[in-house]
Amino acid sequence: MLGQDIEVKNASVTSAARRLLNGDFRQEPYWWTAAPPEEFSDGFPDSTDVLIVGSGVTGTSAAYHLAKLGHQADVLDANLIGSGAARRNAGFLSRTLKKTFTTLARSHGEGFADAAFKEVNHAFDFVTSLIRELEIDCALEPSGRLVMATSPAHLTMMIDTFNDLHRQYGTPYEVVSEADIHREVGTTHYHGAVLIPGLAKFHPGLFHSGFVNRARSAGARFHARTKLERLKQTGNGFVAHTTRGTIRARQVLIATNGYNDNEMPWLKPRLAPFSGHMLATEELSPQLLRRLLPTNRGCTDSNTNLDYFHLAPGENRLLFGGRTGATPEIPLDMAWYLHRRMCRVFPELEDVRVSRLWSGKCAGTYDLMPHVGERNGVFFASGYNFAGTPIGALFGKKVADAVATGKAVDSIFATTRMPRFPLPVRRCGGVRIVMTYLDVKDWLIARGIL
Ligand SMILES: Cc1cc2nc3c(=O)[nH]c(=O)nc-3n(C[C@H](O)[C@H](O)[C@H](O)COP(=O)(O)OP(=O)(O)OC[C@H]3O[C@@H](n4cnc5c(N)ncnc54)[C@H](O)[C@@H]3O)c2cc1C
Repeated sequence: MLGQDIEVKNASVTSAARRLLNGDFRQEPYWWTAAPPEEFSDGFPDSTDVLIVGSGVTGTSAAYHLAKLGHQADVLDANLIGSGAARRNAGFLSRTLKKTFTTLARSHGEGFADAAFKEVNHAFDFVTSLIRELEIDCALEPSGRLVMATSPAHLTMMIDTFNDLHRQYGTPYEVVSEADIHREVGTTHYHGAVLIPGLAKFHPGLFHSGFVNRARSAGARFHARTKLERLKQTGNGFVAHTTRGTIRARQVLIATNGYNDNEMPWLKPRLAPFSGHMLATEELSPQLLRRLLPTNRGCTDSNTNLDYFHLAPGENRLLFGGRTGATPEIPLDMAWYLHRRMCRVFPELEDVRVSRLWSGKCAGTYDLMPHVGERNGVFFASGYNFAGTPIGALFGKKVADAVATGKAVDSIFATTRMPRFPLPVRRCGGVRIVMTYLDVKDWLIARGIL
């Protein structure tokens, strides 16, 4: 494989990538086939109660809950509605915080760590209940998650982490030994796994389009291709200058996460946008897929900079993601990089072609925690460090409640300072440095040094 890689690099990754593309190839998210981003333009208002910038899961949740509470809510998106990460993600619903309980307790105290873990647990319950309550047909499946160990030391570390979570919150988990892994996944690439029952998979496109639909039915208005360019505070609210004109708003929520530009300058040095990448294979035989993923669970590996894969809902395709943070000069090259990683896990997919390839933007924070709150009268919710669907949906609701009650946002993540990235990190390639650090960390864990 290595010799082949060098050969391919010399002969140009781009032509190797092109050879992998199936006849039906499209460079767009797999999810857009069933749920393409939408052109809604619900009448451009002069004024509104709450202006929401960004039509992803955060913005849509805020709009839905505000409308239900009887407030006018207008959602702007610089592009089409749902064109951000909300309809580009992997389709996993988790109870994830990027820090372990122990690390968080050490930096912020046990009380904070406890409240933070309770809130991310609640976010998962919140979004899954919402999907059921609103009857959004989005292939929600509580199929459980396998976290595959990339080294024996990673397995030991995961078992320690899940032991803590089980003791603290009763989080159920099972250890799958290396000898038993074939019952779950048809690969010899990993050194065992931890199975977390109850975590879910879903179709993010159908979820988001259903959610927008429910928000519009409740009275919220959506405005595609309307970019916020400048926000000015006035005596009794804000004037928003957009590419389609000016809107007065009593309150504003910035919900742009990885697509944040400079609409809220305070956020900019506190967020590090990075890209996530995925492919969908051509249609495969059901027998092959049953051999590769007999239990049909969502799979991630145990690295901080992880690979992730699962079966497409209702279709015989494998969805595979990885190489987070990397961006090749030619986007198409990513087909070759991801395919190579996929074949590292499943060598028998060597001749399988790629039908979809896409990327999306997320936002990292320096303390690896999500943040929500209000700054100089402007609400914000972002910095999800990859796993933003549950917590973004919850933050949207919490901002709506804060608007309705006139109180501060009721979240543990609103009580802690959102740190800026140090200048040297921002100046010297930001995300590249962070991803290199995470790769080194994974390497050190694998060798028992950390
Ligand atoms: C490849 C990939 C895989 C992922 N996998 C998962 C997963 O399995 N599970 C999970 O929970 N999360 C996952 N995530 C992360 C998750 O998708 C995001 O955290 C979440 O969608 C963020 O939602 P949001 O509403 O805050 O932002 P987004 O959905 O990104 O929406 C932001 C919107 O703001 C708009 N915007 C930006 N600037 C302006 C402006 N000035 N004016 C108007 N509009 C503007 C953008 O056009 C965009 O539509 C993944 C992300 C990627 C990229």
